[in-house]
Amino acid sequence: MNLTLPELESSRYRSPSQIIRVISELWMTNEMYCPSCGNASLYHLPNNSKVADFKCESCGEIYELKSKRDSIGNKILDGAYYAALSRITSSTNPNLFVMRYNENLVEGLTVVPKYFFTPDVLKIRPPLAQTARRAGYVGSWIMYSEIPVAGKIPVIEAHRECDKESVLRNYAEAVKLKVENINLRGWLMDILKCTDKIDNDIFSLDDVCVFTEELREKHPDNHNIRAKIRQQLQYLRDKGFIEFLGGGRYRKIRR
Ligand SMILES: [Zn+2]
Repeated sequence: MNLTLPELESSRYRSPSQIIRVISELWMTNEMYCPSCGNASLYHLPNNSKVADFKCESCGEIYELKSKRDSIGNKILDGAYYAALSRITSSTNPNLFVMRYNENLVEGLTVVPKYFFTPDVLKIRPPLAQTARRAGYVGSWIMYSEIPVAGKIPVIEAHRECDKESVLRNYAEAVKLKVENINLRGWLMDILKCTDKIDNDIFSLDDVCVFTEELREKHPDNHNIRAKIRQQLQYLRDKGFIEFLGGGRYRKIRR
């Protein structure tokens, strides 16, 4: 994998955001494989494809690419809020590549399987002012920090390409957490995020119950949060993300 971004041959692009979009997409077409099936390349869909940028012609998975200079930070600019929200909650939601670049180098690349997106991950931006060219337009941010660690699979980390086999393995493990129902998916992602916030690998049920108030705000209709937490921890155990140590203690399984 060549981590240098290609040079732009055409001079018909003027704006910096347009230029980086073109060269980052070109880089993806030249260098990136499909993290779902390992197919050697991804097909660049025509630029007017609304939902996605790339498709794997072997397994059919679709991907979108977002890139940011220097650091990803907590949030990434996305498109019109209501369209993005209905897409995120649909079954045709694409998987997401997040690229970090600097000058002409790809410094980092992660892939997020589509099953890690919930409405929480999308944040509405204030409407543009009446004086703006697109007055009233309501955009959105992808709250990258709201995505659980298990869903952010490194492909390039600290200027280094990760071993392809481990990327495919991590992707396959993450996809085991696939939940189609968006409400149930929300619960699973919320509990995963709670476990992310616990520093130790070994933790207790009480350590997760510390977040009860936060969870109650997100799920006001649920009146037995503790039982829900236990249920989700069981699900994470069944999928191989945590192990039960007995006596209400658990251990995270690191990959
Ligand atoms: Zn594929």
